Amino acid sequence: MHRYPFTNSLWRQHDRTKPYEQLKQSVSTEIAVIGAGIAGLVCAFELQRRGKQVVLLEALEIGHGTTGHTTAKCSVQHGTIYSHLIRTFGEEVAKLYYTFNQESLTYLQDQHDAGFDMDFEIKDSYLYSTQKSTELEDELDAYRRIGVDGGDATTELNTLLPFPVKQGLVIRNQAQFHPVNYLHELADRFVQSGGVIYEQTRALEISKGPRPIITTSTGRRVQANQVVVASHYPFNDLKGLYVSKFTVERSYIVACEMEEAPPEGMFLSVDEPSRSFRDYHEDGKTYLLVGGEGHLSGQVTDTRSRYDVLEAFAQQTFHASRASFRWSSQDLITLDRLPYVGQMFQREPDIWVATGFLKWGMTNGIAAGRLLADLLTGTENRYARFISPLRSAVKPHDVRSFVKTNVDTVTQFVKGKTEETGTVDALQLDEGGLVQLEGKKVGVYRDLENQCHIVSPTCTHLGCTVKWNNAERTWDCPCHGSRFDSLGNVLEGPATKPLSYEARDDL
Ligand SMILES: Cc1cc2nc3c(=O)[nH]c(=O)nc-3n(C[C@H](O)[C@H](O)[C@H](O)COP(=O)(O)OP(=O)(O)OC[C@H]3O[C@@H](n4cnc5c(N)ncnc54)[C@H](O)[C@@H]3O)c2cc1C
Repeated sequence: MHRYPFTNSLWRQHDRTKPYEQLKQSVSTEIAVIGAGIAGLVCAFELQRRGKQVVLLEALEIGHGTTGHTTAKCSVQHGTIYSHLIRTFGEEVAKLYYTFNQESLTYLQDQHDAGFDMDFEIKDSYLYSTQKSTELEDELDAYRRIGVDGGDATTELNTLLPFPVKQGLVIRNQAQFHPVNYLHELADRFVQSGGVIYEQTRALEISKGPRPIITTSTGRRVQANQVVVASHYPFNDLKGLYVSKFTVERSYIVACEMEEAPPEGMFLSVDEPSRSFRDYHEDGKTYLLVGGEGHLSGQVTDTRSRYDVLEAFAQQTFHASRASFRWSSQDLITLDRLPYVGQMFQREPDIWVATGFLKWGMTNGIAAGRLLADLLTGTENRYARFISPLRSAVKPHDVRSFVKTNVDTVTQFVKGKTEETGTVDALQLDEGGLVQLEGKKVGVYRDLENQCHIVSPTCTHLGCTVKWNNAERTWDCPCHGSRFDSLGNVLEGPATKPLSYEARDDL
């Protein structure tokens, strides 16, 4: 953690619980779940509730991952997904995707009614364009064809928003909530019913069954009958070609205090640049959360300016105050835009995965956790096939994205090796970058005390060259989205090993 953080997620400002212990001795359990984000915690909670013995391993702490840095709209309005799915797969799959996500909303509503503390609020969800958009016409048509409970809202949006909208759609009675409170609520209840959580315990490897063994960063092991990988990017991605099936997109959020009431609802534009916004109330304050400015992860160094753009939008459009909170995060987009949830590898029936939520993990993640809980307890679930990871032998309609994803990775790999580097002398206080030092290319961050933190710039996942991220003060990999702090420690996978590191105060 930096002493002067530039970024700070609104959702993570209050520590609700005491930290859970690290894994200090090897254990054996029925089911091990890896990753305490929304997918992992829902899955662990559901399995424990159904009488299974579950151990949950978290590399850092609950809420550290994308779920702690989301916008937390719980909506089935996922951009223009339904027209896309009808074009690619037909109406049946589009309908399945809709109900798969819709059931997560009902699940959340039931948990709210049962007393889960998560600032749950029902809101209408809007999609709009400030230009005439055939995309939205197609999406409206898709709503009609598959029975989505939504419709045209162009007139309504022109009364709700302070700028003209050419076309808009609404889906009523969606929801928004506090994602980190939700995670803690699930964790508390999971532990109360006998579940065990280990934080600061990174899974490094999973041996092949019959009872797989997970090796962890604490040197201890967990043996389980079944293992669920809910680590966001699957850290064991090299088998099964997972590594070539995702793009990783990073986007940015600012939360600005508002004097006036923000527009009532949750909003997303399909324009370029896209904007996403919702409100949040806490301690008598009203915030407007504005998201956008996305790009492929690790491919931008000047990330601070992305926040400036969003803040300017909030101020100019809604008369918001300066941003009180700024944060960013990344999510995984699969080749065919359906998540991967189910058995992870053809020949290993004991390893399961939940990933690829397309920036819509609040509903997809809950649905994934519930689906895996069904699969691991032998319960019939009609969604098992359409998002099974084993569907993912590359199909003709995926080939273009498959090739593009992999060409992009190779391009980034080569670019990183040949890119010009600066000199260490040119680095100002609180600045980082790739430099030539004593005949070697290294990554250097010069901190506010003028100490230089030097890392090897070669990502420990597959060897791409990491880039400096000036808002987070991190080293980000442009190939698969692994991220490291200025001391080289892993913040986000798929990498599991740190960058080699040394501190110098003579430069
Ligand atoms: C900016 C932004 C805004 C978004 N807004 C929305 C929204 O409004 N609505 C919506 O539905 N979706 C939204 N999303 C998407 C959603 O937030 C994600 O899809 C979802 O949070 C992913 O959840 P997860 O459980 O898969 O991963 P995470 O929340 O990242 O959890 C994975 C956990 O696994 C841990 N981990 C990783 N590797 C290991 C390991 N080797 N061993 C042990 N633990 C490990 C991590 O530390 C982490 O805690 C947004 C995404 C972004 C980037």
